[in-house]
Amino acid sequence: MLNIKRFVCNMLQENCYVVSDESSEAVIIDCGAYFEDERQAVVGYIRNNGLKLTHVLCTHGHFDHCFGNDTLWYEFGLQPEISADDEFLCDIDQQMHSMMGVHYDRESAPVRRFQTTGDAITFGTHSLKILPTPGHTPGGVCFYCAEEHVVFTGDTLFKMSMGRTDFDGGSWPQMLQSLTQTLANLPEQTVVYPGHGPETTIGQELRLNPYMRK
Ligand SMILES: [Zn+2]
Repeated sequence: MLNIKRFVCNMLQENCYVVSDESSEAVIIDCGAYFEDERQAVVGYIRNNGLKLTHVLCTHGHFDHCFGNDTLWYEFGLQPEISADDEFLCDIDQQMHSMMGVHYDRESAPVRRFQTTGDAITFGTHSLKILPTPGHTPGGVCFYCAEEHVVFTGDTLFKMSMGRTDFDGGSWPQMLQSLTQTLANLPEQTVVYPGHGPETTIGQELRLNPYMRK
């Protein structure tokens, strides 16, 4: 069984997920906690539930998915893990400045790379397969737990929609391929936890989301 706790974070309403199992080991996916109360809520949830955080995972390197990584680095000593192709995004100050014209005055946490080809992240008795899904960013990935039928899709797939492809390194053809080749091939009952907005399922998206049609 997986316990999936969602925190809606920052000015862009980003979904951060703390995923734990009966062993009490946990991973966090896309810690976009920005405001101090958001950072405290995430850390408090982990501490108060006696969870042992083992990985800090990023579906991609955009700032709204990474704001809280410095807090996790400080509190738990874990470096955020990201694919090599998104490392160029990891300076939050630089990204905020080029995309929004404002500065970010906190230091970004040092990152670690994961390999996107066939690699998996294990914690407790579970594992999350890393599915490369470029398009929104060049190194974007989804995290898929086959035995529990869940996938965390970041900004690749949203309910009835998909992420933008007009940012630095984005690609419309790659995005369509990620949606119609990679995600559309997951079992229909797979529950989708996106980076913004409500949950859905692969089956529902195959029926209703025009971008998922092959
Ligand atoms: Zn994004």
